[in-house]
Amino acid sequence: MGCHHTRTPRRTVSDLESISSAYQTLLGMIEQVEPRIAQATRQELADQRASLKLIASENYASLPVLATMGTWLSDKYAEGTVGHRFYAGCQNVDTVEAVAAEHARELFGAEYAYVQPHSGIDANLTAYWAILAHKIESPALAEFGAKGVAELSEADWETLRHRFGDQRLLGMSLDAGGHLTHGFRPNVSGKMFHQRSYGTDPETQLLDYDALAAQAREFKPLILVAGYSAYPRRVNFAKMREIADEVGAVLMVDMAHFAGLVAGKVFTGDEDPVPHAHVVTTTTHKSLRGPRGGMVLATEEFAPSVDRGCPLVLGGPLSHVMAAKAVALAEARTAEFRTYAATVADNAKALAEGLLRRGVSLVTGGTDNHIVLMDVRSFGLTGRQAEAALLDSGIVTNRNAVPNDPNGAWYTTGVRLGTPALTSRGFTPSDMDAVADMIAGVLTATTPTTTAAGQPSKAKYELTDDARSRSLAEAERLLNLHPLYPGFEV
Ligand SMILES: *Cc1c(COP(=O)(O)O)cnc(C)c1O
Repeated sequence: MGCHHTRTPRRTVSDLESISSAYQTLLGMIEQVEPRIAQATRQELADQRASLKLIASENYASLPVLATMGTWLSDKYAEGTVGHRFYAGCQNVDTVEAVAAEHARELFGAEYAYVQPHSGIDANLTAYWAILAHKIESPALAEFGAKGVAELSEADWETLRHRFGDQRLLGMSLDAGGHLTHGFRPNVSGKMFHQRSYGTDPETQLLDYDALAAQAREFKPLILVAGYSAYPRRVNFAKMREIADEVGAVLMVDMAHFAGLVAGKVFTGDEDPVPHAHVVTTTTHKSLRGPRGGMVLATEEFAPSVDRGCPLVLGGPLSHVMAAKAVALAEARTAEFRTYAATVADNAKALAEGLLRRGVSLVTGGTDNHIVLMDVRSFGLTGRQAEAALLDSGIVTNRNAVPNDPNGAWYTTGVRLGTPALTSRGFTPSDMDAVADMIAGVLTATTPTTTAAGQPSKAKYELTDDARSRSLAEAERLLNLHPLYPGFEV
């Protein structure tokens, strides 16, 4: 590819002034139609700038990525695939989709890329149906389209499962860090398949490949799903593929969370899912730092089935978002992005070490990806209390279950932290040590409120004013050191 893929152009101050004034004009235009939307949009930038964002699934997309989403590409219907559309006049959407797919294939070394999915869930649904359609020749697929999903009764689902040959799905359990779309009941994936889940070793909290292989031999899934939302460790996808091959399963890897680390060549060899999996799904807005959306990568074998994502499970593609995916993927092919991805992992390590040094327990005892999962029970707190006390102190996180969580999925015992967003702002490992100090300070200064019955509350808490104001001041110092979109004012 051309040399423009190796560098992102540096923007000068006057560039930023003119970009700011362009956005001010656009927001002024919106203001004339619905001022509350212009105001909420401005306020969101102010809010995003004003706290330490440690939500592991969020990031800050670049201004070129954001700008690409706000165009008339949104106005075009383009159901179908490149060069084969069910609408006339799709030549520019064809260019957009082809360029995005080309970047995806070349960045990830994939044989085939499908860039239409509107979200990570859509990417997984596309992949599941594609695998079923490819593996099982069945008229049930056509019948499924005749009824709306909402109209299907439990008996209908049962019939459908039988038609598809009672297929089985094996994915990571929710409390070990798996995702709802990996076969859990609240999601359609849990209704489509007979599902079982694998957990982690009760001692080390790490994936136990031997136990997983034994489970796979016994359960014989059609699909083995690897990937996670809250597991703070790398996965050996070569081993996963061996297990899948041994039992004749399709290996599907959902890299929604860590696609940026794959793109940035932090995960290589056995840790890179693309050479090992039959099908890889992802979001584009998490560590990959693109627009909100999804993608499916696949081997040639699965390409024709994945290509049927629209109209099988997707509506018309979001052409403006596919365009922004192309821009984000072009950015992800630069040397700067590789440095970014390496720093995401270094920052997570520094955050974990800083927390451990200050006596905070971490699930698996640390991290080697972008996620740190704190276990806050030693502070006498639930995840919900810790999340709320941190939010009061300028630190945005989310509570998360830990393996065998005694507090369940609502109150939880864990708080998940992630470094992609702060790394986009320019945070370094020494800044992450300062963040660890803030977190440990706030948790130490937080106590559960006692209920009328004398029991500690799972939701209410008290945080000392002193700890809160110290943390807020430190957050302000760090945020000013690393401004978001510096020089950009709306
Ligand atoms: C975030 C996530 C998804 C879902 O992505 P959406 O874009 O929110 O639909 C799917 N799988 C995994 C592993 C995720 O982390």
